[in-house]
Amino acid sequence: MTIDAHPELPEFDYIRPATLMEASRFLADHPGEARPLLGGTDIFVRMRDGFWKDKYLVDVKRLDGTGNLSFDPQAGLTIGAGVNMNRVIAARPVQSYYPLLADACRSVASYQLRTRATIVGNICNASPAGDTIGACLVLGGLLNIHGVDGPRQVSLAGFFLGPGKTVLQPGDIVTSIQFPLPPQPAAGVYTKLGRNTWSDLSIVGVTAYGCVDPGSPSGYHFQVALASVAPVPLLVEAVAEYLGSQPPSAEAFQQAAHLAEDACNPIDDVRGSARYRKAMVRNLTARALQKTWDKLNTAV
Ligand SMILES: Cc1cc2nc3c(=O)[nH]c(=O)nc-3n(C[C@H](O)[C@H](O)[C@H](O)COP(=O)(O)OP(=O)(O)OC[C@H]3O[C@@H](n4cnc5c(N)ncnc54)[C@H](O)[C@@H]3O)c2cc1C
Repeated sequence: MTIDAHPELPEFDYIRPATLMEASRFLADHPGEARPLLGGTDIFVRMRDGFWKDKYLVDVKRLDGTGNLSFDPQAGLTIGAGVNMNRVIAARPVQSYYPLLADACRSVASYQLRTRATIVGNICNASPAGDTIGACLVLGGLLNIHGVDGPRQVSLAGFFLGPGKTVLQPGDIVTSIQFPLPPQPAAGVYTKLGRNTWSDLSIVGVTAYGCVDPGSPSGYHFQVALASVAPVPLLVEAVAEYLGSQPPSAEAFQQAAHLAEDACNPIDDVRGSARYRKAMVRNLTARALQKTWDKLNTAV
C-alpha cells in the first residue's frame, strides 16, 4: 500500500445559491455528489484524505438567516447553522442561560478552528465523538430543516442513525438549532477525556445536566449524554428516570453512573479500549453529576 504523505484537495465546484430552495433543489438533483458546506473543517479533511469525493460543495452559510443567533425569553435560543463556535461562546444569552453550550464549544480543538467550525456542522457530521452534541441533546435541541418540500422540525434526540448517518434526506439543509429556555436554576458540566488536553477527539465525553423539576418525585431533572462510546451520541434515558425518582446524593450519582456504563457500547480503537472507555464512563459520570449538583446548589 502506498501512502501519500502530502495529500491535496481534489477539484470540486463551489456552489453559492441565492436561496434555501435553490440550495435544496441543487442538493436533491445531485444525490451522492453534492453536500452542504458550512465551516468545512470536517469536509476538507475528508476530501483531502480521499474519503469523500463530492463534485459540488453547496455553501449554505449566508442563506436566509443561517448566520443569525437570536434569543427570546419565551422562545429560547436559536443558533443559525452558519454561526461559528466562537460566536456562540461570546454570545451574552449563551453565557447567561446556556453556559454548558459555551463549555462544550470551548472543548473543540483551538480558537482558530472554532472561527470556522459550527455546532450544526458538528451535529450533521454525526460523529459519535462530536463534542457539542451532548450539550445540544441535554438542552433539548430542535433542528430546523429546509428540504425540497419546505421547512420542518426534527428533535435532535431522533436525528442520529449511526456513525455519519442521520435522518437527513437529499436536499435537506439544517438551517438552525433551537433550545427552549432552561428552567432556573439549572447547571451542567462537560467532561472530555482525550489523549491530550487540547485539540484531540474524545476517548470519552460525558455531559451532565440538572435543573429543578417540581413535577418529579425527586424535585429535580438530571440528564447524561455520552460521546465516543456508542455508534451514535447517546442520551441515557435510564439516568434521567432513575434520578427523577431518587433524592440527589453521592450514592444515587454512583448508581446512575452504573446505568450510564450499562447503556454504552464502546469499541476498541487507537484512542482507547472498550473496557477502559466503560470504566471511564462510570467514573466520569459520577463526577460530572456530583459537580452538576454542587453547581446547582450554588446557583439556588
Ligand atoms: C484540526 C481539527 C480538530 C478538530 N477537533 C475537534 C474536537 O476537538 N471536537 C470535535 O467535536 N470536532 C473536532 N473537529 C471536527 C470539526 O471541527 C467539527 O465537527 C465541526 O464542528 C464541523 O463544523 P463545520 O461547520 O466545519 O462543518 P462542515 O465541515 O462544513 O460540514 C460537516 C458535515 O455536515 C454537513 N453539513 C454542513 N452543514 C450542513 C447543513 N446546514 N445541513 C446539513 N448538513 C450539513 C456537511 O455536508 C458535512 O457532511 C476537528 C477538526 C479538525 C480539522
